[in-house]
Amino acid sequence: MVYVAEADEIIKGQLRTYGTEAIDFEQALGRVLAEDIVADRDLPPYNRVTMDGVAISFAAFEQGITAFRIIATQAAGDVPPITNAVDECVEIMTGAALPETTDTIIRYEDLEIKDGIATLQTQNISRGQSIHRKGKDKKQGDIVVTTNQLVTPAIISMLASTGYTNVQVKKQPRVIIISTGDELVEVGETPSPYEVRRSNNYTVKSILQQLHLSADMLHLRDEPIVIKEKLQACLQQYDVIILSGGISMGKFDYVPVVLEELKVSKLFHKVRQRPGNPFWFGAHENSTLVFALPGNPVSTFMCTQRYFVPWYRASMGIELPPAYAVLDNDITFTPALQYFVQVKLSFNNKGHLLAGTIEGNGSGDFANLTETDAFMELPLERSVFKKGEVYRVWPFKQIM
Ligand code: AMP
Ligand code: MG
Repeated sequence: MVYVAEADEIIKGQLRTYGTEAIDFEQALGRVLAEDIVADRDLPPYNRVTMDGVAISFAAFEQGITAFRIIATQAAGDVPPITNAVDECVEIMTGAALPETTDTIIRYEDLEIKDGIATLQTQNISRGQSIHRKGKDKKQGDIVVTTNQLVTPAIISMLASTGYTNVQVKKQPRVIIISTGDELVEVGETPSPYEVRRSNNYTVKSILQQLHLSADMLHLRDEPIVIKEKLQACLQQYDVIILSGGISMGKFDYVPVVLEELKVSKLFHKVRQRPGNPFWFGAHENSTLVFALPGNPVSTFMCTQRYFVPWYRASMGIELPPAYAVLDNDITFTPALQYFVQVKLSFNNKGHLLAGTIEGNGSGDFANLTETDAFMELPLERSVFKKGEVYRVWPFKQIM
């Protein structure tokens, strides 16, 4: 039996890299960049007009000219016309490239336009107003997005505007999620009074989906020969195997023995925690990792969030900063285990993240998970925890 911190360290000692691949930029959301994104032209690429109105020469305004003859109308994308006299202007739209003979934009709101003449309605004009200068944000050749970060919608926007139809991202592990247990039937089936539908594998799969990580699924009966044969094949085909169930002390819990027969070295079995005490973790000599999670639905859920997700992120080269919250009620927990209590999170008007515990009915009570937002990791050394104390939280629901 290991402590949570040891389990953490052992898992973090097994980070993997899977190389890189080029993918269509539209598929890149949630993936991790494996190259710097470089501007192929200045940003903005030309002196970009930021208001609809007219383009004038500021010198004309300084000379006291307040009425300007419109010589052309320029839409965004048009070649800029040239004015030939100081009292000429170009009617111009947002996004258009500033004509070279002009340097100031007067927006429609400050103009009266009649018979092709634009007359200023304000004296409050400054040179160069309403123009976003070429190269002001980034120069051609500048790095606009650095490598090794999660692709967000803002980064997709950069990829699109810099012409990256394809982008290099980190390759992901090939993952299979395996449920075990003779009492489990498919979701579309009607269970006998003594059976349940299998849900853990879908729980894990959807957590992985949130990471934009796909996975195959397999169900195994509690049959040592079948488990061995299938796991042997999976060890060849996958980088990560996430199992649920079959790892405790029960008569039909064959998974740990079979894994060791298949040369998956046990790196730990059992963690001083609740839920998720029977968690088994190991590595095959070909480097495939096995996260064998306890079958109780809350245990599977917690271990996936607390151990697999950080392992995956760290392997991809990204790590989120740890989150902490203020306990919002007293709570007592006496077993010598690190307690991952379910909490509901909220912000108070001081900007503090508060965590109110909602304990539910143990590792089998997964209905409770739908009403909570995070696990709060309470230290094992203590048994009484007071309102106002601050502890680490592992959020599993978006709360803002
Ligand atoms: P086990 O770890 O195999 O002893 O399973 C512990 C408990 O979790 C049992 O009540 C199982 O029925 C339940 N369980 C195991 N696997 C799943 C699953 N894939 N979906 C839902 N419940 C499961
Ligand atoms: Mg079982």
